[in-house]
Amino acid sequence: MSISKDVLKVQPSATLAMSAKTKALIAKGVDVINLSIGEPDFTTPEPIKRAAIDAIESGKASFYTPAGGLPELKQAICDRIQLEDGVTYTPDQVIVTDGAKFSLFLIFQVILNAGEDVLLPEPFWVSYAEQVHLAGGNAIAVPTTGKDHKVTVADLEAAITPTTQALVINSPQNPSGLIYEAAELKAIGDWAVAHDITIIADDIYSNLIFNGHEFTSIVTLGEAIKQHTLLVSGVSKTYSMTGWRIGYVLGDAKTIKIMNTVASHATGNPAAVSQYAAIAALTGDQKEAQAMRAAFEDRLNTIYPKIAALPGFDLPTKPQGAFYLFPNVKKAVQLCGFASTEDFVEALLTQAHVAVVSGKAFSQPDHIRLSYANSKENLLKAYERINQFMQDHM
Ligand code: PLP
Repeated sequence: MSISKDVLKVQPSATLAMSAKTKALIAKGVDVINLSIGEPDFTTPEPIKRAAIDAIESGKASFYTPAGGLPELKQAICDRIQLEDGVTYTPDQVIVTDGAKFSLFLIFQVILNAGEDVLLPEPFWVSYAEQVHLAGGNAIAVPTTGKDHKVTVADLEAAITPTTQALVINSPQNPSGLIYEAAELKAIGDWAVAHDITIIADDIYSNLIFNGHEFTSIVTLGEAIKQHTLLVSGVSKTYSMTGWRIGYVLGDAKTIKIMNTVASHATGNPAAVSQYAAIAALTGDQKEAQAMRAAFEDRLNTIYPKIAALPGFDLPTKPQGAFYLFPNVKKAVQLCGFASTEDFVEALLTQAHVAVVSGKAFSQPDHIRLSYANSKENLLKAYERINQFMQDHM
């Protein structure tokens, strides 16, 4: 069977590959603590599940919805962003998709011509680059020299090409958990506007902010920046709804309309039952979402000092959002006598029975990503195992 040459260039998702390896070991009966996962470990709050069951039982979830989502869900998205960020969007500026992952996929399909470039400040989430490739574009990894490895205008100036169309800003960031401050975002936004570059703001972790830090969405920093931005978010991380597959994009009505046309030929509408569940999530009581956020904060405060103090683990800044730690482990790898971070990660899995992801998946191969979307008990156990592993190998 013939396979497209372009598609053959796409790498499988390293995070999903690690998850699969881990699950295979667990299936064999090995007691692995899985810190490789990128999803909350809670089940979806009861009122959201109840809304979905009602939608099934009443029959309203039986049918196609408009391809870009139910009008009442689009309105709920606008209302929530108005409440949380104080910015105004109208339903014609919203498209609902099968998860934020497909929102991003659709954006690259719609904005890129073959051979055009997208700037990805390092470290960046594994799927951006492959989605750009699938749209025929070039992913340009941008080395970052700002505070806590955040991208600066000087970094962007050094990376821009004549065919740069877009820039992805992800805050809070997967994998580092760092948040861009308003002044940093304003400088980046003004630069993008001046160069007529589309900003893709991936705000999927915007409700997982810890220890009094503040989240600013780039779209709040002026009308010109807002008009140049496609804002991506969804319900997966805030409401523990990864399995429901609801994400969305907010942006200018013309681009959203074209995305709608493409989506109508690709997926059609996202599952109706999930859309009714998302309406309940966005319009309902936020108590359970807030409780999950508080649990992540508590886990971060428990595990960060321990992981940061491991020999050869370099993690000077405490993450401020999302649910990941991204230490530089170059020294730890050397101390333990491994040739590469990947060998270190493999040994952590097979000998210490702790699953983490190599930083290579995020274009920073000297790092590893540990997810703290796991119970405190498991996190502490994982720390003990890594510590023992280090003692045994040094
Ligand atoms: N963006 C980032 C940075 C993510 O980490 C993820 C999920 O892991 C997504 C987008 C996609 O989320 P979903 O497709 O579940 O809405």
